[in-house]
Amino acid sequence: MDGKIYTLPDLNYGYKDLEPHMSEEQLTLHHKKHHQAYVNGANAVFEKLEKARKENANIDMKASLKEFSFHVSGHILHSLFWGNLKPSLKDGRENNPDAKLEKLLISGFGNVERFKKEFSQAAASVEGSGWAVLAFDAMNNKPMIMQIEKHNINVIPSLKVLMVLDVWEHAYYLDYKNERQKFIDAFWNVVDWDGVGGRL
Ligand code: MN
Repeated sequence: MDGKIYTLPDLNYGYKDLEPHMSEEQLTLHHKKHHQAYVNGANAVFEKLEKARKENANIDMKASLKEFSFHVSGHILHSLFWGNLKPSLKDGRENNPDAKLEKLLISGFGNVERFKKEFSQAAASVEGSGWAVLAFDAMNNKPMIMQIEKHNINVIPSLKVLMVLDVWEHAYYLDYKNERQKFIDAFWNVVDWDGVGGRL
C-alpha cells in the first residue's frame, strides 16, 4: 500500500449488493468517506506519536491517546461491520444463525427472537452516535450485548466481538433520514450469520 499502518479494507460485495436495505449511494459514502476518515485519523495520530518518539518530543498524551482510541476503534468497528453484512437471500429463504451460534444465543437470551429484540433495542437507544454489539464472553461462555457510544465508550474489555451494527446517523441518513428504527429493521435482512458465527 502507501506505507500507512491502517488501510481501508475492500468490501466482499459490490456497493449495490445490499439494496434495497442499504442503497449504493449510502454504502459508497459510508465506506469510502466515513470509514476512510477514521483510517486517516488513526494514521495521523499514529504518525504523530511515532514522530514525537523519534524526536524525543513532548506531546499531549491524554489528548493524543483519546484521539487514537476514537479513530482506531472507528476503523476496527467499521471493518467488523462490513464483514458481518452480505446480500439478502434472493430465494425468499429466511436468513438465520447456524446451529452453533443459535445454541449460544439460546443459552444467553432464551431464544433468537429475544436476542434480536434486545439487540434492536440496544441499537435504537444508543444516545447520540454509536453501535450495538453482540460479543462473546469467554469467561462465562455467554453472549453479551454491548452498547457503544461513539466508537469507544462503554466498551467492555476482552469480549470477543461477533456482530456490530453502526447506528451513527451517517450510516442511514440518505436512506432513512432520521428514522433509525427503519434502518435497524432493514439490517436483519443483510446479516451474514455465517460470518458472525465464524467469529465464535
Ligand atoms: Mn459508520
